Amino acid sequence: MQQIYFFNEGRRDMRALLGGKGANLAEMTHLGLPVPQGFTISTVACHDYEKNKNQLSDELRAEIAQALTRLEALTDKKFDSMQTPLLVSVRSGAAISMPGMMDTILNLGLNDQTVLGLAEQTHNERFAWDCYRRLLQMFGNVVYGMPEQIFESVLANYKRRNGYRNDLDLTAGDLKAIAARFQDLYLESGHGRFPQSPQEQLELAVAAVFTSWQNPRAQVYRELHHIDNTIGTAVNVQAMVFGNSGADSGTGVAFTRDPVTGEKKIFGEFLQNAQGEDVVSGVRTPQGLPAMEKMAPRAYQQFLTAVAKLEKHYHDMQDVEFTLEHGKLYFLQTRNGKRTAKAAVKIAVDQVNEGLIERNTALLRIDPEQVSNLLHPEFAAATLAAHTPLTKGLPASPGAASGKIYFTAPSAKAAHEAGEQVILVRQDTSPEDIEGMVVSEAIVTSRGGMTSHAAVVARGMGKCGVVGCENLVVDQEKQQVTINGKVFPAGSELSVDGASGQLYQGHLEATQATQDQNLQILLSWAQEAGHLDVYANADTPNDFAQALNFGAKGIGLTRTEHMFFKTDRLLKMRRLIIAGTALDRVEPLAELQELQTEDFYQLYRLAQGKTVTIRLLDPPLHEFLPHDAKEMARVAAALDMPVAALAKRVAVLHEANPMLGHRGCRLAVTYPDIYEMQVTAIIHAALRLKKEGVPVKPHIMLPLIDTLPELQWLKARLVAKINDLLAAAHTPLHYQIGIMIEMPRACLIADQLAQAADFFSFGTNDLTQLTFGYSRDDIGSFLPTYLDQGILKADPFKTLDVEGVGKLMKMAVDKGRYERRSLPIGVCGELGGDPASIRYFAEIGIDYVSVSPFRVPSAILASAQSAL
Ligand code: ADP
Ligand code: MG
Ligand code: MG
Repeated sequence: MQQIYFFNEGRRDMRALLGGKGANLAEMTHLGLPVPQGFTISTVACHDYEKNKNQLSDELRAEIAQALTRLEALTDKKFDSMQTPLLVSVRSGAAISMPGMMDTILNLGLNDQTVLGLAEQTHNERFAWDCYRRLLQMFGNVVYGMPEQIFESVLANYKRRNGYRNDLDLTAGDLKAIAARFQDLYLESGHGRFPQSPQEQLELAVAAVFTSWQNPRAQVYRELHHIDNTIGTAVNVQAMVFGNSGADSGTGVAFTRDPVTGEKKIFGEFLQNAQGEDVVSGVRTPQGLPAMEKMAPRAYQQFLTAVAKLEKHYHDMQDVEFTLEHGKLYFLQTRNGKRTAKAAVKIAVDQVNEGLIERNTALLRIDPEQVSNLLHPEFAAATLAAHTPLTKGLPASPGAASGKIYFTAPSAKAAHEAGEQVILVRQDTSPEDIEGMVVSEAIVTSRGGMTSHAAVVARGMGKCGVVGCENLVVDQEKQQVTINGKVFPAGSELSVDGASGQLYQGHLEATQATQDQNLQILLSWAQEAGHLDVYANADTPNDFAQALNFGAKGIGLTRTEHMFFKTDRLLKMRRLIIAGTALDRVEPLAELQELQTEDFYQLYRLAQGKTVTIRLLDPPLHEFLPHDAKEMARVAAALDMPVAALAKRVAVLHEANPMLGHRGCRLAVTYPDIYEMQVTAIIHAALRLKKEGVPVKPHIMLPLIDTLPELQWLKARLVAKINDLLAAAHTPLHYQIGIMIEMPRACLIADQLAQAADFFSFGTNDLTQLTFGYSRDDIGSFLPTYLDQGILKADPFKTLDVEGVGKLMKMAVDKGRYERRSLPIGVCGELGGDPASIRYFAEIGIDYVSVSPFRVPSAILASAQSAL
């Protein structure tokens, strides 16, 4: 079976077989762009290699040899030739792009002989030895796992000893000596002599790339991005072109639109006289594209035409790698460019307006999870004006963060685990730093450009990032950083402004971002397309205003208990709870009623006729009571009662299993006056607004309902109360009394409950807790192991367990609607914001989800996607 494809034999839709890089090299070749000749060894060969106990099979070796002969003919060059030495790059590339995760070797084919040939043919000794030392470095690292650092420190020593400022100052003589030193390192680390046969080099390199699929950092990346472990990687073998062959050469990367803002303007970076790795790894801070235009104006025009063609062809923003060899342009890679959430939204909206893509494509292109990144905090202009920046770097990824600085991934991780907010500060980052980046609020580097590893990964993770802070010197040994002469040891507090690239000393308060215009447009398209309405969980006018701003249709859940968690109210609540008799409760209830009336008035006024669903008190009462001696004394004093009496009352209220105890509607059966107070407050607020001419729609929701008699008992009392109030006010008012469906029993008898409830709202947190029998508060002790072992695929509190909990929900929907076809049914709880769960909710006929304000945009988009 064919395991190797030349670039002119592949196509962009052959990703699974050729990997993304190989498929796109093939596609560019077909488009007639200048791509150096080469071939792709398929992912099938990678699977064979793994099955073959990490050995290249004889068939594959023969096929590689054949392909090489063909490549030699195509390029008119030869392996091992002194006159026309063929050099190749060996590049990994999986079906899903994993930037910097897998390894690449450049200049393969050089040996002690051909390096002399190359020098002679190009009349450029320095160039030849630069290529050779790079090969020795990359080959040693990729194939033998020799640490990059041992090579780098040889280079650094040379530069230091000779007083050089950068790599370009190294002479041919230096590079030759360095190559010799590198070869010694092979011997010293027990790998024998650097293989002189190009064929042997190639086979070892191909095997190493296949093996690198299983390296730990690739695994971490795959886990992070949910990429299937079994897809494997392809290997691309491509004739080298040389950006390091002199002052008329160079290498760069470019995005067809700005990856940070999304602006329609080519954005790129270029390094004169350099090989590709130099830009991507961020070892030298690159120049912009104007430098390239100045150096090679004709090639630059050709480049602009070509990238415009690529974007049109792929219907998406492209991220390309290119090289100029003596002024001649070559393309080495193209892919759909990674971008910030802000850029993603702007590009999608712009491309619809340009007629490049359809609205539905735009909606599908945005990851709902990513949308919440757009709502990232920023520093208010006033805050920034009041502080002097320490220094400024490149604004690689937006956001605003404060935290303690650490210089290594392990120390960042440890600090994070100890509960600190962490900022990772590095000279540059490599894939080994991924785990440190994951736990950090922000990433700062002293070197590298907007396309460096740190910048790309920060944007992908939605983390605040500032790179290339030239005035920042990291001292790994002393674990400190010097910023413009000022020393900051590990653990110092810094603030990072990803929008401007500025760093500040100490902690700056961040505020929420203002609404993004393009996002608003996209969300309006989404609302047209989506089947589910999106409501918000909001307990305060502030939260509600935020949610309305994000496009919420109303409130699906107000948790009234949250209204009591303020010091003065807590005291009133406590007075209520410790009251022994109904009579003692009268006064505190009256006080609370007044406060609640005001709360509800504010919410309904903001709603302007939109639905506001208020859930009556849910948690066990003792949650409001003091638990340690110190607090007990304080509260007793405030309530003007003996500590012992309070302690006694607390003990009475104590429950062995409060989440399954005296809470929710059960409280109202034992203390009906509490719910009556809340209902009175709701009706008073509604009547007041009605008088003011504001339309109101009160929805009252009862939590934890288990049985029909329970619901009927409560409803009879509440309705009687409400009717009294309305009669006294001589005002009719539409209101609804609905229930939360969060007990498995309620799902089973949903048809009965639908006889008495005006609406259903699933409480997925409790329903999941009770269906699995997993305590939400204790799940941390076993869930990680369950996930590790693959016993659970996902945390059921984050993404719906369709098979179990989902089935109960479907049963409840079907039974409820069998009883009453028009029964409104919603879902409140954080699962309502999870895109995968939303798809299922739409499928079983849920009308709306209610999520926290910052999840509203994601939910609107996910709802649209589930309909497309
Ligand atoms: P990565 O996936 O880490 O970007 P690549 O395989 O794309 O790795 O290669 C690393 C760098 O080497 C890139 O800048 C690329 O443009 C450059 N490169 C790869 N192959 C060649 C080649 N044949 N000639 C010149 N430069 C190359
Ligand atoms: Mg690349
Ligand atoms: Mg609940």
